[in-house]
Amino acid sequence: MNGTLYLCATPIGNLGDVSARCLEILNSVDLIAAEDTRRTLQLLNHFGISKPLTSYHEHNKREKGGYIINLLKQGKNVAQVSDAGTPAISDPGEDLVKLCIENDITVTSVPGPVAGINALILSGLSTARYAFEGFLSVNKRHRKEHLADVKNDARTLIFYEAPHKLRTTLADMRDAFGADRKIALARELTKVHEEILRFTLGEAVKYYEELTPRGEYVIVVEGAKEPKAEAQWWESLSVAEHIEKYISGGMSSKEAIKQTASDRNIPKREIYNEYHNLS
Ligand code: SAM
Repeated sequence: MNGTLYLCATPIGNLGDVSARCLEILNSVDLIAAEDTRRTLQLLNHFGISKPLTSYHEHNKREKGGYIINLLKQGKNVAQVSDAGTPAISDPGEDLVKLCIENDITVTSVPGPVAGINALILSGLSTARYAFEGFLSVNKRHRKEHLADVKNDARTLIFYEAPHKLRTTLADMRDAFGADRKIALARELTKVHEEILRFTLGEAVKYYEELTPRGEYVIVVEGAKEPKAEAQWWESLSVAEHIEKYISGGMSSKEAIKQTASDRNIPKREIYNEYHNLS
């Protein structure tokens, strides 16, 4: 019988956030596939867990994917952990999940911290509808296209960013979304220096002219506002004035009543009655 792949979420800063089930699974599997074995070893040592570790990351995922699938096919259970947070969210994992599905291997998750979701709930921005946008590309043209693509999205947008790129990214966002768009910067979540900065993109760019960004950041951006409906030329007119404007433009009174009813989205009969009572 095939083994199971467990996607285990680990803390994004505070080790106290590891779940009891995560520790139980890490203690029970045959192998732990880690994005960064050194970092995972620190976690395992902290909790007194001793298990075989292998690396699984962006640059070896092809060969290692095959190796892990073979073990799973031999009935071994494997846990996958990323550097921090939830595997497969801007982290290796997605490809391993696909491989397991192709090979009829059960994949299950051991849920836990995700930086983006924690940033969203602390942002003060709408949580009703949101889109996870991950990292912007380092390629200038791709970044621009990505930002242009989501510029009019009404959902709250969640981005990950490295500290040394934060200034450029905030400036690019200001240029794409406008200086007045609200954002929240969630910095060092769950750590001693956790900080949530809430301002506009214009203010954020100014703020980091003076200060060097340090630590880990999630950028949460307010969704685009619905464009205001354009004022209609007839809005300041009474129903009678509205109809007469059409009549003076050459319409018959029947046509003018029909058009006025359609403009105002009111039944023709009501427009007709109102017009004849008034005139
Ligand atoms: N898989 C992880 C998750 O579940 O959130 C994300 C991994 S991604 C490679 C790393 C990015 O997540 C960082 O560049 C930063 O944007 C964000 N991040 C991770 N930990 C964070 C923290 N403690 N505070 C703020 N952002 C964090």
